[in-house]
Amino acid sequence: MTVWTLSDTCDEMRRALDDPSVPLHYFPGVRCYAMTMARPGEIPRDRIVEFEDFNRLQGYPIYFCPWTGDSLPWVLRYERTNRLKSVLGHDSFHDGVPDIPETDLPQEFQEETWWVSRNIREVEVPWPECNYWPFPFVMDNPPDEPWEPCRDDDVPVGYWQWDREPPHLCKDTQQIFYFARLYSYFPHTREFGFRIIDMDRPVDDQAQRILPVNFCPWCGHELPKSLREEWERRVRFLNLDPNDIRFPTDKPARWPDDLLSDTWWKKERSWNAPARRLARRSAGLRARRHLSSSSG
Ligand SMILES: [Zn+2]
Repeated sequence: MTVWTLSDTCDEMRRALDDPSVPLHYFPGVRCYAMTMARPGEIPRDRIVEFEDFNRLQGYPIYFCPWTGDSLPWVLRYERTNRLKSVLGHDSFHDGVPDIPETDLPQEFQEETWWVSRNIREVEVPWPECNYWPFPFVMDNPPDEPWEPCRDDDVPVGYWQWDREPPHLCKDTQQIFYFARLYSYFPHTREFGFRIIDMDRPVDDQAQRILPVNFCPWCGHELPKSLREEWERRVRFLNLDPNDIRFPTDKPARWPDDLLSDTWWKKERSWNAPARRLARRSAGLRARRHLSSSSG
């Protein structure tokens, strides 16, 4: 299934977008769902830029619903600029950016209204424009480089990442693990997810908590099943409290190392069924469309 308007998205997606501690945002005027990026020392909230200049968006667009795997609609970057030019006049644009502030644009262009009223669904992105942004999203986007852990000793604890290859790795997740880091992998529960953070403080010393996801937001592959339930059961069995651990900044001394990493589930065959590669229909169609347009 393909999402069209915000109202087509699932409850989990809307809860995440409404939650001020989840760095996920929807920009209705350009139909873009994006994860905020904040580098060490930066205040995440300051990095959420409205679309006065789309090129300055400090976010990382996501292409699939992280909870259902449905493909998200194509970002309306060129269409919006072209329609705005016809409304405002070509002279009112410089370097693809309107001279007037985003908030002074006609109201319909700040909302879903302009593209919903014109029934704009699929968009033909002119090749080779889609080569640089927005990137065409395809199911098979293996990383360009082999996995290499980030071994920078200066990385603040709030940006810590598991240094072994995670059970899902595509081109985008590899980049995100390396640069943006508000999306994490937890080896002890085998979960991928968006960070839950205080948007008004640098992430540097914030404890790692995540909102788990089921599908890769960038390639649509189904992710391995979360083992949180089983992990919590084992933790409680040892009379420990799962909430004691604010992974990975606090590692209570009494905890067995096995339960603080992927060791406990990796050594038991029953937890290691291979992740299903779901060829989701809409994503497959989109990938084929991209391939046919790129060869023409
Ligand atoms: Zn992926």
